[in-house]
Amino acid sequence: MSSSNNPIPSGPLARRASRRVLVQHGERKIWVGGDAPVVVQSMTNTDTADAVATAIQIKELARAGSELVRLTVDRPESAAAVPYIRDQLDKMGIDVPLVGDFHYNGHTLLTEYPECAAALSKYRINPGNVGKGAKRDTQFAQMIEVAAKYDKPVRIGVNWGSLDQALLARIMDENAARDNPWTAQAVMYEALITSAIENAVRAEELGLARDKIILSCKVSGVQDLIAVYRALSKRCDYPLHLGLTEAGMGSKGIVASTAALSVLLQEGIGDTIRISLTPEPGGDRTKEVVVGQEILQTMGLRKFTPMVIACPGCGRTTSTVFQELADDIQSYLREQMPEWKKTFPGVEAMNVAVMGCIVNGPGESKHANIGISLPGTGESPAAPVFVDGQKVATLRGDNIVSEFQAIVLDYVQKNYSKAA
Ligand code: SF4
Repeated sequence: MSSSNNPIPSGPLARRASRRVLVQHGERKIWVGGDAPVVVQSMTNTDTADAVATAIQIKELARAGSELVRLTVDRPESAAAVPYIRDQLDKMGIDVPLVGDFHYNGHTLLTEYPECAAALSKYRINPGNVGKGAKRDTQFAQMIEVAAKYDKPVRIGVNWGSLDQALLARIMDENAARDNPWTAQAVMYEALITSAIENAVRAEELGLARDKIILSCKVSGVQDLIAVYRALSKRCDYPLHLGLTEAGMGSKGIVASTAALSVLLQEGIGDTIRISLTPEPGGDRTKEVVVGQEILQTMGLRKFTPMVIACPGCGRTTSTVFQELADDIQSYLREQMPEWKKTFPGVEAMNVAVMGCIVNGPGESKHANIGISLPGTGESPAAPVFVDGQKVATLRGDNIVSEFQAIVLDYVQKNYSKAA
């Protein structure tokens, strides 16, 4: 994105070269890595054995824009439910590829529930949770053999909360033998990276094609994640799944994830992202999808939904009308997108400005595709509307929200219809 003619270069560094991995369900193909756009994925928090609740949540996540959805497969009842969930989604026209998350008993579930193994489009294996001692290699091999048999890609997903203890002990022994031993932090980083790469190499030796492997090394600290992925990205060309594990709740989870992922994405590192937010009680699971999309869109890496530019408000704003209008318009645009992206291609690049007074309002409104500047303190109770920089209307009264929404819809129909 940077230009040699620009004396002040902007934009992210070139994406790191990686292999491309195809994750597919039927006709739906999601490429991860190579020159494919960074993929947004999410994970359910329903009991997978509750097939109806899980299918409903997957539908919601997919409609919000999740391009892959992971679900835990933790026991026989969950494995038995997976093909039923897949079937229900297909009947609802939801073709999002599903990823099965396996720990400890994945070798048994994938072997004893072949319909589950076939219904999933990708498996996630945590090499620290495969088994202990001699069983570990056998159980890992069983899962990889199922993946190879069904031609499914695998994410080797290392997590520092469940790091392979035997491997960690080996790396610590190697460190103790050094003339200048590394810090405990450096040893931990090395153990995470080594676990991911050694297990990927082992998977290839077991017959899984190289272009079927994605890696992740999740940690919960921002600086740790950046350090680990910078090093990991230099040592392999597998596509990388980025995410801060246990990011937390509310603004903390969003800020920590954004801080970590933005640095890495700006450096061209990362092929798919998941934002691991702890939902508020009764909160909406789709928030993790929205946050992931907004990170990519605000960085200029992808476009998903028309963006609303709104001023923060200040002592000049006389009412909450402009806050409500900004919120209503953003919600309206997001709700329309599942349909609009089919009927109005390109609409995701549209900008809408909602400003609280005339100080910056008209200027910002003119830069957007559509902008409205609401009256501030002491200003006449009128809201000028700008379309492509030209003032086209002045709204007054109690119906400003619905009238502005109608202007937005009219603009979309005129400018983004396939025939336009
Ligand atoms: S545009 Fe007006 S209301 Fe909004 S922050 Fe600026 S001065 Fe305040």
